[in-house]
Amino acid sequence: MRRVLVLGSGFGAFSLAARLDPRRHQVAVVSPRNHFLFTPLLPSAAVGTVEFRTIIEPVRRGRPRLEFRLGTAEAVDLEARRVRCRSADRSATWEEPYDALVVAVGARGNTFGVPGVAEHALFLKELADARRIREALVANLEAASIPGTAPAERERLLHFVVVGGGPTGIRFAAELHDLLARDAPRSYPHLAGLPRITILEAGKEILPAYDESLRRYTARLFRRRRIDVRAGARVEEVGRGFVRLAGGETIPAGLVLWATGFAPVPFVESLPLARDRHGRILVDDALRAQGRPEVYAIGDCARPESAELPQLAQIAEQQGRHLARTIDSPAPFRWRDRGMSTFLGGAEAVASTPGGARAGSRAYWMWRTSVFSQLVSARNKVLVPLDRLRAKVFGRDLSKF
Ligand code: FAD
Ligand code: MG
Repeated sequence: MRRVLVLGSGFGAFSLAARLDPRRHQVAVVSPRNHFLFTPLLPSAAVGTVEFRTIIEPVRRGRPRLEFRLGTAEAVDLEARRVRCRSADRSATWEEPYDALVVAVGARGNTFGVPGVAEHALFLKELADARRIREALVANLEAASIPGTAPAERERLLHFVVVGGGPTGIRFAAELHDLLARDAPRSYPHLAGLPRITILEAGKEILPAYDESLRRYTARLFRRRRIDVRAGARVEEVGRGFVRLAGGETIPAGLVLWATGFAPVPFVESLPLARDRHGRILVDDALRAQGRPEVYAIGDCARPESAELPQLAQIAEQQGRHLARTIDSPAPFRWRDRGMSTFLGGAEAVASTPGGARAGSRAYWMWRTSVFSQLVSARNKVLVPLDRLRAKVFGRDLSKF
């Protein structure tokens, strides 16, 4: 039996590993997390619209024959066909042999080398990030409620700054607005009207991947909600309690979410394989690395030579599915564009589909439907609507523990 070694447990790796036939392949997965994470709902989890465990699916559940190891791939020996791995607690290293290797390690947040980002900003990539954000939000609301807090300090604590006007930044701002406008006033009536959200985008516009009409729609909607969107605002430094813009302006901030695009993970940077200018592994039509037909790369860490595909869950998922069918007899991968949508808070969204651009409540339902259809497990499909209902009826939970 051929041994297929899969690196990662995200959209690409999970859709592949869940489909490979264990009677025909010996499947091993190495990943620093033992669950699949449904990232489209990560901004919702960061403000408590859905609970953390609602949007994950354990890799092992229902797959007794899958070999899973909690750790990271550190280096590969392409000649010997072995990957050196390190356990998640960093205490042990071991080697993992393969006949076929599938690199599906995704990407990491890009700090663009801006000083202070790693130390003082929060990211939104893993579940632990969402938990950190939720804790920080509640901590700030509580700190702002302490008697004697100076007005300027209270203002700073309640100023939430999002760096990056792409889909992650926009969705987080939207979810945060829902929390601050609907739920916070019930528990913190004394802070009514004080919390502010600012989005800083270095480029000319937010949501650059969407149609002009949808970008305008989003900008208008956010203006109505008093979410301050500043385009052409380049952050040069993040410090404790502030961000500094090019030009010198310093903006006090109680929380800084950094969401400005992707960079390769260290393992991909270390690979002796051809990569594109963004550091992604170049692959052929059948998703194989150049000159290495036994090495595949899928998802955010891969770049098909013939097409510049966006870094999207549906692409990683389709590539994993494709590879599960074709790993013994390579065949060209073709992407089926299902369109994309971004939640804007309340019952609003923008959607860009092969059929055209949509905004408002129609787009909202398209977004809801697409999220639901992409949820991988029956458990998730039950828990997500239940959590939403709970948040709607009882409000998002703002307890600190
Ligand atoms: P990932 O899903 O990121 O998985 C990478 C896996 O590799 C992880 O399990 C990681 O732990 C593991 N890993 C990392 N380093 C190593 C290593 N050295 N060794 C072994 N394993 C490693 N896309 C959409 O299409 N729609 C959306 O609504 C959407 N919303 C998003 C919201 C947020 C907040 C974020 C961050 C992303 C969103 N995306 C969305 C993008 C989508 O998540 C990615 O395109 C998708 O996850 C890519 O899948 P992947 O398998 O390549 O990587
Ligand atoms: Mg993956």
